[in-house]
Amino acid sequence: MRVMVCLSYVPDTATRPQIASDGRQIERTSVKFILNPYDEYALEEGLLVRERFGGEVLAVCVAPDNAREILRTALAMGVDRALLVRDEWTLDSFGVGVALATVAQRYNADLLLMGRQSIDFDSFQMASTVGELLGYPSVSVVSRLVIMEDGTVVAERDVEGGKEIVHTRLPCVVSVQKGINEPRYPKLPDIIKAKSKPVDEIVLPSEGPLCEIVAMELPQRSRAGKILGASDAELEELIRLLHEEAKVI
Ligand SMILES: Cc1cc2nc3c(=O)[nH]c(=O)nc-3n(C[C@H](O)[C@H](O)[C@H](O)COP(=O)(O)OP(=O)(O)OC[C@H]3O[C@@H](n4cnc5c(N)ncnc54)[C@H](O)[C@@H]3O)c2cc1C
Repeated sequence: MRVMVCLSYVPDTATRPQIASDGRQIERTSVKFILNPYDEYALEEGLLVRERFGGEVLAVCVAPDNAREILRTALAMGVDRALLVRDEWTLDSFGVGVALATVAQRYNADLLLMGRQSIDFDSFQMASTVGELLGYPSVSVVSRLVIMEDGTVVAERDVEGGKEIVHTRLPCVVSVQKGINEPRYPKLPDIIKAKSKPVDEIVLPSEGPLCEIVAMELPQRSRAGKILGASDAELEELIRLLHEEAKVI
């Protein structure tokens, strides 16, 4: 089985992003980047599939050079190969999808695994975009995955108030949900070994983005609260504030 796991290199939610001076992107130099948390589940699922069926796992990330660090994490967890598709943050989601589909075709992937969403742009669209480009079925937000010897795929999805069971066949694209497995922690010797393993790199031609971000804004800071006492005068002031400032009565 040839499994391709797609990894997104995203800003850590613990850091506070700033908007760059062009007003169209985040200021990336002041932000710590990490492996997209949902992609850890995709990685673990890929390794479990390989443990069951044999074959190999390729980890792929479309990003600038710094993203090698998350590909090294994937190597430390146990993937066989790591590939950086070099892009200096020029691609929109569709462009990333085209790059991933191109790699999947060249690699002859039987199974593509992704996280349910990338926590930077939250598009939830990569699995269906790549599936469509390859002509493969795609199943999104999967919480349990079973692959049979004959290539039948049984995927369980959590839906409002219940579960949905989907049957499809390899080759296919699956995006996974938190809880599908318990991602392994890389052991120290594996982290050290991963530092000397190769991370391959390619650059793919791109026709430029189909969609363009024209403006980005941080959410408005919430207004500071006011503390009033319980005297009659202050109650009157409270009513005035609710009426004139908050405009809720
Ligand atoms: C309109 C628009 C314009 C954009 N323009 C730019 C731009 O000019 N510059 C810029 O830097 N970014 C841009 N982006 C952001 C960027 O291209 C993608 O949003 C991002 O790589 C993919 O995130 P997603 O939210 O589309 O993915 P989702 O569909 O939410 O991601 C699902 C899964 O797909 C996989 N995946 C997602 N991204 C990658 C990746 N890069 N490599 C490997 N696997 C991945 C992961 O497994 C992830 O869990 C733009 C996004 C949009 C929506």
